[in-house]
Amino acid sequence: MNTNPGLQSIPIKVPLEQIDIKVLGKDKIRELYRAGKIPTPEAILDEIITRAAKEDVRFIHFEPMENELIIRFGNYDFLKDVVSLPVNLAENLAGIIKIKAGINAFEKKKPQRGKYVMNIGPMQFSLVVNLIAVNAGERITIDLLNKNAELPALEDLGLRGNNLEKYKKLISRKSGLIILVGAKDSGKSTTAYTTLKHLRSKEKNIVTVEDRQEYVLNFATQIIVAPEVGLTRDEALNALLNQNPNIGLISEILDNETITKAIEAVVRGSLMFSTMISRDAMSAIPRVLGLDVSPYQLSTALIGVVFQTFVRKLCNACKETYVPDFAEQRLLGVGISEGDQLYRAKGCEQCHGTGYSGRTAAFEVLEVNTELLDLIYQNASLATLSGAAKIQGFVDVRDDIKRKIKEGITSVDELRRVTD
Ligand SMILES: [Zn+2]
Repeated sequence: MNTNPGLQSIPIKVPLEQIDIKVLGKDKIRELYRAGKIPTPEAILDEIITRAAKEDVRFIHFEPMENELIIRFGNYDFLKDVVSLPVNLAENLAGIIKIKAGINAFEKKKPQRGKYVMNIGPMQFSLVVNLIAVNAGERITIDLLNKNAELPALEDLGLRGNNLEKYKKLISRKSGLIILVGAKDSGKSTTAYTTLKHLRSKEKNIVTVEDRQEYVLNFATQIIVAPEVGLTRDEALNALLNQNPNIGLISEILDNETITKAIEAVVRGSLMFSTMISRDAMSAIPRVLGLDVSPYQLSTALIGVVFQTFVRKLCNACKETYVPDFAEQRLLGVGISEGDQLYRAKGCEQCHGTGYSGRTAAFEVLEVNTELLDLIYQNASLATLSGAAKIQGFVDVRDDIKRKIKEGITSVDELRRVTD
């Protein structure tokens, strides 16, 4: 599925294939240079990024080798070579990217990070650049995100059955803190934005504080932290409080300041969302308490923690049925009977031979009710909290993945990959 259809009509300006060193060889390239027929580095960079946007890939890799600069495109489930450029272009391209991303050009040893925004056709893209020195130069990864991409519906995030019901109940509350957790790139910010879109209405004031604007929300006030122009995170958080939002989002709980401000907003009557890195829903609670927040403070605000992890979806064009063996039946537990068929990955042209195409999320939805709040207030151990949540019907992420396996959405291999 391509989410960037508005870009398809952009013509190719630089035929990268005509300067591919793997195709032409060194001598022919030298001739092109002599004849002045190599496009400028600016035009080459522009073409690479535009093509990535058109192909809807998330990552662009610049990998300098001894004799070539390999450009690769990647997503979460594949990586492919695009073109091999003459290696002497590497330094020029790196120089331009550094200027655009506000990266120090004189620092040659430490890894660096920067960001910038670029318009491609009718869309605006957020680019985050990561750069590290390697033997042959500088290895660069650009993380490319279409800020105008269409957000999915709440029902299409991967929340199913009971999880969807519980989540809808949580977000219908008037106030409270909901923490969306997962690994980096688990899709939690998409969940956050999708939820805001689901809750939007003319009567509601929605305000966000974000370090990187991943989506443009035309129904919300988005405060983008930009210390380089004097807008620090603290100032942004204060601005959010002063806006008195009905609904708020703070992009990442990083420190005591963030969580304290989020709790303060809830006490004033807001429904607040925030994201955080955590390996499951339950352990987010001690993580937050570790930021020097008192159990009392947290228990005045927290109403839910939602964990998610992505699982790759089986390619519909090539997935094949099979009968699981005894070990797999046991792994999947109840709901699988002898002779039942499941699906597994095969690989075809459409899915670049991986057997998977696209991804969805598996969830844990933890409702923090009075009993759990009491336990948090008493500073109970993680084991005690987990035990209490299980008794109340908390379903862990493995069970959600098993459900997705039985529905033919993903595979047993994915369950093993995610939970091993
Ligand atoms: Zn396939």
